Amino acid sequence: MIDPLPVLQSTFGFPAFRGVQGAVVERVLAGERTLAVMPTGAGKSLCYQLPSVVLEGTCVVVSPLIALMHDQLRAATAIGIRAATLTSVDTDQAETIARFRRGELDLLYVAPERASSGAFRDLLTRAPLGLFAIDEAHCVSEWGHDFRPDYRLLRPLLDAFPDVPRLALTATADAVTRADILEQLGIPHEGMIVAGFDRPNIQYRISPKDNATRQIADLIAETPGAGIVYLQSRAGTEKMAEALAKTGRPTRAYHAGLDPHVRAKNQADFVASEDMVMCATVAFGMGIDKPDVRFVAHAGLPKSIESYYQETGRAGRDGDPAVAHLFWGAEDFARARQRIGEVEPARQPGERQRLAALGALAETAGCRRRILLKHFGDESPENCGNCDNCLNPPAAVDATEVARKFLSA
Ligand code: ADP
Ligand code: MG
Repeated sequence: MIDPLPVLQSTFGFPAFRGVQGAVVERVLAGERTLAVMPTGAGKSLCYQLPSVVLEGTCVVVSPLIALMHDQLRAATAIGIRAATLTSVDTDQAETIARFRRGELDLLYVAPERASSGAFRDLLTRAPLGLFAIDEAHCVSEWGHDFRPDYRLLRPLLDAFPDVPRLALTATADAVTRADILEQLGIPHEGMIVAGFDRPNIQYRISPKDNATRQIADLIAETPGAGIVYLQSRAGTEKMAEALAKTGRPTRAYHAGLDPHVRAKNQADFVASEDMVMCATVAFGMGIDKPDVRFVAHAGLPKSIESYYQETGRAGRDGDPAVAHLFWGAEDFARARQRIGEVEPARQPGERQRLAALGALAETAGCRRRILLKHFGDESPENCGNCDNCLNPPAAVDATEVARKFLSA
């Protein structure tokens, strides 16, 4: 087998693999079907980009978002990887197809809708293939938090090329979703590689919400550096940005309803800034590579425990201390339950389970990290010492207080 290390160093400029990357790349280069479950920021892209350079033939990458594909395309091209996207907004589709057929591409990014079309399958029979990579693979599962029916149509395509290795990648998958991904994509159980989910430098805090604006202003006052505040509504992001500007920190708003130029400018400002506070809906975050985010606050409940993990995971990617603070109220749960009642019946049990897991996390008097990691299948027997409950145990204090009163009575 080809030694991937020289390519890691020369093409990517990294001295070593991180975490399970080496194990994943090794399986892929050996032609084995693989599911890599790695947290956000762990470096999943490298797991197919490196093989795409080493293997003969093109690596076809299925990715759910055009913006994400274009970010990846820019980054790959910048380091000399021969990459292209085939999406509805690309004007060079004919040229890309010609390059693909001539074997001149390392990476070809496509959306699941296109990947599962008959025309695309025809094209694949006339081009050299090295690997199928299915990014954000939890989209294939109805149990996942972001089901995309088009992902279900990928299996026949993959099975039409049984000798081409396949690599599925996801950041957030509980045990049920993982098993479903393996089954839906035809990957054997021993092909699953799970990285540790712990982010020890993130301090988890969860508090009841009384006045979110004041609470977040307090958090900002004690936390220097750039941060993200997640809000439930577009109007909420603009109001919060305005209110928090009074703290003296630069603020911006980000949501899908903003003019695209304003949105792009606000994002660029944030990435370049050392102390900006971005007030955003969940539209903000995917594909944004800012390592020095010092806090992530939630004014209200995220959609699920997966979303919570993913959104808080944008803090502290450089490994330095960071804070994730969630402010929630009982009305948030009521609203979430109502929302679940409106989704397809088949998805309701999964959504309810993920909401319940988030509830357990919010209401525990024990270690937050233990509950969070347990949900992702990591056993972490110790109290973490770096969450609000470990640092300042609420129940223990109350219990001894109650016990003392009881004993002295
Ligand atoms: P993911 O898709 O898992 O969220 P990415 O593939 O976007 O993560 O990678 C996150 C960051 O980690 C990128 O900036 C990437 O350049 C960096 N990275 C990936 N692999 C390594 C490595 N072996 N050493 C150092 N940095 C790495
Ligand atoms: Mg990724």
